[in-house]
Amino acid sequence: MSGKIVILTGAGLSAESGLGTFRDEGGLWAQHRIEDVATPKGFARDPRLVHAFYNARRQQAAEATPNAAHDALARLQQRWPDEVILVTQNVDGLHEKAGATAIHMHGILTGALCAACDHRWPAPSEMTPQDMCPHCHAPAARPDIVWFGEIPYHMEAIDKHLQDCAIFAAIGTSGQVYPAAGFVAEAAQSGAETVELNLDRTEISRAFDSHHIGPATDIVPRWVDSLLTGGARRLPFV
Ligand code: NAD
Ligand code: ZN
Repeated sequence: MSGKIVILTGAGLSAESGLGTFRDEGGLWAQHRIEDVATPKGFARDPRLVHAFYNARRQQAAEATPNAAHDALARLQQRWPDEVILVTQNVDGLHEKAGATAIHMHGILTGALCAACDHRWPAPSEMTPQDMCPHCHAPAARPDIVWFGEIPYHMEAIDKHLQDCAIFAAIGTSGQVYPAAGFVAEAAQSGAETVELNLDRTEISRAFDSHHIGPATDIVPRWVDSLLTGGARRLPFV
């Protein structure tokens, strides 16, 4: 078996590395309203709060290490005879720490972006509202993160990959955040086999051909091994 594989990853992939998902109780996200910390309006209203939130997330991500699921995906990318495109909604950089390359559709915590001129540079560990853009010198530094209401990065390239992949997988993503939640329909329309790997069923489970239910560190290495040994279609685990 071969052909291009496109894999969409979400917060659930990094949960077992100690990084909370959106809906985790008690996590960073639970302590804040999304509108306050993850929208352009929230940033305009209280940049100090937004920087503090992302400074905390940046520090957490810097201390986190990839888990067995990230490692398995890096292995798949190195050994699969065709292209393996990882498209991630995660901003934690754990795919790269595991030795993979990924398309970051929601940006990355290690990046800073100038809200005035779009210049990008590596983020310091602590960003503040007074930080100046090194290019245009406006005090307009923000995290290079795609917030709600903004357009995700690299959509054109991602669409192309969805249109010519043989397999599309979604791992640890709730299917509630668009446009990523629409990728499965796009891939299926192009004839790809679709598979969902998640701790639970999701709101869009019905759109997938098959499902592997369980923690990512268990089901992802098994799925990757089954692909690499050519037996993906025959494996009985669901
Ligand atoms: P989400 O929080 O909406 O959903 C997480 C999904 O992961 C759920 O479907 C849940 O069932 C599943 N899950 C939880 N633990 C799992 C595990 N151990 N193994 C397998 N699956 C597990 O996350 P989302 O769909 O990625 O969308 C959320 C948005 O939040 C994205 O925009 C993303 O940028 C942002 N986010 C990123 C991070 C990160 O970078 N690590 C963390 C939190 C939120
Ligand atoms: Zn600038």
